[in-house]
Amino acid sequence: MERFLSGHSSCPGCAVALAVRFVLRAVPDDAVVVVAPSCIGPMMGPVPLSSVTVPVFHTAFETSAAAASGLARAYRARGEQATVVCLAGDGGTYDIGLQALSGAAERNEDFIYVCFDNEAYQNTGNQKSSATPWGARTASTPGGKSTRKKELMEIIAAHRIPWAATGSPAHPEDLMAKVRRAGELQGTRFLLITCPCVPGWGIGDDASLRILRLGVEARAVPLYEIEDGTRYRITHEPAGIPVAEYLRPQARFAHLSEADIAAIQAEVDGRWEALVQRAGRGVPGRAPVGEEAGV
Ligand code: SF4
Repeated sequence: MERFLSGHSSCPGCAVALAVRFVLRAVPDDAVVVVAPSCIGPMMGPVPLSSVTVPVFHTAFETSAAAASGLARAYRARGEQATVVCLAGDGGTYDIGLQALSGAAERNEDFIYVCFDNEAYQNTGNQKSSATPWGARTASTPGGKSTRKKELMEIIAAHRIPWAATGSPAHPEDLMAKVRRAGELQGTRFLLITCPCVPGWGIGDDASLRILRLGVEARAVPLYEIEDGTRYRITHEPAGIPVAEYLRPQARFAHLSEADIAAIQAEVDGRWEALVQRAGRGVPGRAPVGEEAGV
C-alpha cells in the first residue's frame, strides 16, 4: 500500500524520499511513525498538507528512540495494537541519538528503527557526521574528512537485538522484504539504508540510484542482515567492481588521489572479507590458503 504520496518537499532525485516510500509501503497496516529532525521531517509535511497517510510524531534529535520506546509502551498499556517505526537520519542515529538508541536496544524495546544514511547532516547544509566516509568533502570538512566512518552495524549487533539489516532504495525488492521481515518480529529491529544525497554528494538529480548500485556492486555498501547480533547473512552478492567506479562520479571525492582511492579500496576489501567471514563463508574468488601461495 502506498503511504508516502506525491507533493512532498524533498529535492528532485532524492534517494531518501524513495527509501521512505519503499519503507512505508512495506510496514504493517498499524504503523505509527516517529520522525527525528532530518530531511525526512519536512517531507512529512504540515497537517493538513501531509504527504503520508500514517500518524506521525515529530520528536527532538536526541530522543527518537526514547520517544519510540514510550509510544510503544503506551500503546501496549492501553491494550492497543500499533507498530512503532522510527525514521531518522545518520546525524540523529550515529551521533546525536545514539545514546537513546543504545539504551532502547539494550532494553529490547519493541519498535522498528530505520536510519536513512546520506552520510552527513544534509538537511542543514552538508556538515560531516560520524557516518561521513574518510576523504569526503563536506561543508565542515572542506579538505576531506580525516577520520573513518563509524561502524554502526557492529555497534548495533553488539546489543544482540533480534534483527538488524542494511538496505538500498536501488534494490527495492530486497529492501521491502527486509521491512516486511522486521514487521513480523518483536523487540528492537534496526535497518540502515544508504541514500545518496544530490547536493551533498555532488551528483546529478538522475544519478542517485545508479551511483548507489555501483556502491553495492563495489562492496562499499554491502547488503546483509544479522539475527540476534551473531548470525550474518549476505542478501545480495556483489560483482566486486573497483570502488573507484563508485567514488569518481561523486564531486565530494573529486580531490582524492589514486593513492587515496587505493587506500579506500583496501579498506572496502577488508570490511567485505570480515563480513564474509562473519557470514560463515569463504571469500568468493579467492583461492584457499596455501593454493594462494602456490604450495
Ligand atoms: S538535501 Fe539530500 S537528502 Fe535532503 S532532501 Fe535534498 S537530496 Fe534528499
